[in-house]
Amino acid sequence: MADQRFNADVVVGDRTQALLRSRGLLPSQWKVSDVERQRILDNNIKLGLVFPPASQLSLTAASASVVKRIYVVTIELKALDAYEFTQREIIATILHEIGHVVNPNPPSGVSNCGEAGAEITLAMLREMYADDYARFCGFGNEIASSLKKCSEKNPSEFKPDQIEARIRRIAEKVDNSMRS
Ligand SMILES: [Zn+2]
Repeated sequence: MADQRFNADVVVGDRTQALLRSRGLLPSQWKVSDVERQRILDNNIKLGLVFPPASQLSLTAASASVVKRIYVVTIELKALDAYEFTQREIIATILHEIGHVVNPNPPSGVSNCGEAGAEITLAMLREMYADDYARFCGFGNEIASSLKKCSEKNPSEFKPDQIEARIRRIAEKVDNSMRS
C-alpha cells in the first residue's frame, strides 16, 4: 500500500500530517507490516493530534465509514514531550492506543493471576492487551521504557506496582493472537 495513501487514510488533517512528518511519526514511518497497515485501516482507526488548550478534529466524508465505527486515537505531543519520550516511544504509545481497538480485552469472566497470586483486574488486562499489540508490532522495548518513564514522573497516575506487572508481561512475550 502506498505510503501517501496510508498516511492520508489514517491521519486526520493536513496540519497534523505535516507535524507528524516533521517528527518522523507518520504512520508510514512506523515501519509496521502490510498486515498491520491493513488491520489499522480495516478497524477504521484515525489518528489526530490535540493542540492545546483546545482543538477540534473533523473527519471528512472520504475518511468516514457509514457502516463501521470510527476510532480516533488522539495524542498530545506536548504531554509526551514532557515525559521525554523518544520518537520510538511515542510510536509505541500510539500503537498501544491502537491496540485497545484491534486487540481488545478478553471476554468477561476471563481472569489471570499475577506472580503473587493477586488477581489482575479487567482494566489491567485491557492495558496489557494493548501493550501486547505494541510489542507485536516490534515496539516491546519502547512500550516498556515509556511505561517506566510514566511511572517515574507520575507515580500517582501510573502506579509503580501495576506498571511493573505490565513490564513483566511484555518481557514474558505472551503469545497473543490478535483479536481483530
Ligand atoms: Zn491503555
